[in-house]
Amino acid sequence: EKEELKKIKDKEAITIDNHKVNLWANIGSPKDLTGVLANGAEGIGLYRTEFLFMNSDKLPTEEEQFAAYKEVAEKMQGKPVTIRTMDIGGDKELSYLKLPKEMNPFLGYRALRVCLKEKDMFKTQLRALLRASKYGQIKIMLPMVISLDEVRESKKILEECKKELRKENIEFDEEIKVGIMVETPATAFRARYFAKEVDFFSIGTNDLTQYTLAVDRGNEIISDLYDTYNPAVLEAIKVTIEGAHAEGITVSMCGEFAGDNKATKLLLGLGLDAFSMSATSIPRVKKVILESNYDDAKQYANKLLEMDTAKEIISNL
Ligand code: PEP
Ligand code: MG
Repeated sequence: EKEELKKIKDKEAITIDNHKVNLWANIGSPKDLTGVLANGAEGIGLYRTEFLFMNSDKLPTEEEQFAAYKEVAEKMQGKPVTIRTMDIGGDKELSYLKLPKEMNPFLGYRALRVCLKEKDMFKTQLRALLRASKYGQIKIMLPMVISLDEVRESKKILEECKKELRKENIEFDEEIKVGIMVETPATAFRARYFAKEVDFFSIGTNDLTQYTLAVDRGNEIISDLYDTYNPAVLEAIKVTIEGAHAEGITVSMCGEFAGDNKATKLLLGLGLDAFSMSATSIPRVKKVILESNYDDAKQYANKLLEMDTAKEIISNL
């Protein structure tokens, strides 16, 4: 099997009937790029920048962040590099940023919510991202969005950063794309409206599952309830893709589900444009795409989404 997977490394992910999808990798630091290139990823669908913040005892400076983002952009040689702004809080702590102890950290002060309050910290990251955008194809991705107010506020702050850089005569990609993660029911339900104001979506199934089902993703006592195949989660994925396509933007998925090759045909059939996963999963997912027919996959997805339970869906995959 290994040999067979190796052979498809440099092939594009195209179905038998010529429908192309993109297979991207998730990374946590520039060090992960070796595996990314070795497995034939066509881009980075999720760079989790919080590790840069967590592996330090102080806030990383603009220069430190710039160096990391630039390295990834350059090594990917113009392929898309989707960089997520800091997603701290929830289960991830920072010693130097005094986050409050909360009753429900996953429903609390985290990710974009922190960035919009700690505006200087957010601007430092956005400036570093803009500066690095000159060295490749960087896209900015906002996590944990629940409202258009957050999107508009973030874009306003990004514009401030652009203005500053222009004044300082520092070059950046004027056309830099800004997208959001769809990982709350609030964004999934209103996908169409978000799609009018952002350039792309990426579905974060780890959190989308947690928030749709009200099941803590890290709680072992109820881990049997944490199931992305729950029809409600699949419905949330479906309406997200439909909303995006209605407004002509693309949808990727960067949660664990994107790397589950048992789910590949279903996601293909729902119209997902790009799959982003840990690099080592790429060949197995690609194999399914190469062996699938897009028209069949659409019918298959429709059929599965009409089933009542996760159990039924899983037994019909
Ligand atoms: C997700 O929620 O699916 C996701 C990709 O983000 P993280 O796992 O980093 O929360
Ligand atoms: Mg998430």
